[in-house]
Parts: sequence; C-alpha cells; structure tokens
Amino acid sequence: MNIKNNISLLTEEIQKYNCRLIVVSKTQSIEKIKETYDMGQRLFGENKVQELQSKVEHLPEDIEWHLIGHLQRNKVKFIAPFISMIHSIDSLKLLEEVNKQAEKNNRIIDCLLQVHIATEESKFGFSEDELLYFIKSDKISDLKSINIKGLMGMATFTKDNDKVRTEFKNLRKIFDKIKTINKHANVEMLELSMGMSGDYKIALEEGSTLVRIGTYVFGERNYIT
Ligand SMILES: *Cc1c(COP(=O)(O)O)cnc(C)c1O
Repeated sequence: MNIKNNISLLTEEIQKYNCRLIVVSKTQSIEKIKETYDMGQRLFGENKVQELQSKVEHLPEDIEWHLIGHLQRNKVKFIAPFISMIHSIDSLKLLEEVNKQAEKNNRIIDCLLQVHIATEESKFGFSEDELLYFIKSDKISDLKSINIKGLMGMATFTKDNDKVRTEFKNLRKIFDKIKTINKHANVEMLELSMGMSGDYKIALEEGSTLVRIGTYVFGERNYIT
C-alpha cells in the first residue's frame, strides 16, 4: 500500500468534481496521518470521540477534524473546543447539546444532519419526513452557536451499484428540495457528505461535496493494533 500514491490518485479524481476529500483516519497511527498531512491533506475524519481526542494533541493545529460517527450527547463537550464539523446529527437533543457546548467555547460549530437512506436498520439518521419536519422547527432558530451546513448519508453496504446509486440520488433529491424551501438563518444546504471507499465514484457522480475515505488510502483497517 502506497499511501502517497493513493492520495494523489484520489485527489486528482475528485478534483474533477466540486468535491473535497476527508481522509478517514480511524485506527491509523499518528505517523500514517502525518504522511498524508505532509502531502497537504488537511481534512480528517474520525468516528470515535476518545480516539479523536488522543490524536489531536499529537497532530498540527491546522487540521480540520470532522466527526463522522454516531455521537453521544455526554461526549460532545470533549470535542466542542476544536471540532470543525459534526456529520452525524440525528436528533434535536444532540444538536441542542452541540449548541450549548459550542457557546461555552465561544464557537460556532458546523453540523450536518444525518439522513437514513440505507435499507439496513443499523444506520442512524432522520427519515425524509422527519428531516423536513425538523428543518422547519422553530427550535432550530434558537440555536445560535451552530450552523447546519447540509446533509450526510451512508448507502447500504452492498455490491449492488444500482441500489447504492438510487440511495445517493434520493439523498441528493432531499438536499435539493430543502435548498428551495424557506429556512432559518442558521440552515444552509451547501455540503452533501456521501461516499466511502467502496462507493465514492457513484457518490461523486450523484453530487457529493465531501467524500469520507479510509480504506482506499490506508488499506484494510487493523482493529487489533
Ligand atoms: C469508517 C467510515 C468511513 C470510511 O470508510 P472506508 O470504507 O474505510 O472508506 C466513512 N464514513 C463513516 C461514517 C465511517 O465510519
């Protein structure tokens, strides 16, 4: 596995689209993350708060950290001082907690709303109806220390590319629909976070603005290390 080569191939590929690369660095060592940092990579994604916390202090301050995994409310306080974007907002209670902790840190934290587009039950997120209801809720306008910047979704883990494409298309449709409706001042539809190692090409074609890629860059994860 040649990390440098993988990154340059990916970067070149996604530059043709209006998309940015988030390197998913979960389970990877500081050395490996540094290697991609030294190539100019600045956006990194982690899915566990504790692991993220332990890495941040060993890496340069100009990294933009993205929290991409399910987030528990009692852990928000640990990442609020530095996190760039939280992709996995799936309830009002979580968003309120992010707002509270952002305020404490004198920051405004960018958030994405996670939409459930897969057929697998295990994946988190709002249904389309829940999302539309949520976006219109007056409670959102009270949250002055967060900005909702767009949507995130994960397709079903399958080799059936047509199914994956249908799910991404659906997410894009919801994204476009929300763009056209009246929204609170702290809600914008700018970022569409979709696509991982196995399905990012389809996600690019369907309008992703942020792909989250780990395995393609680093090789298969080793969870034992
Ligand atoms: C691990 C993870 C990714 C990256 O997956 P790869 O298949 O390794 O590219 C993307 N998004 C989320 C939410 C993840 O947890």
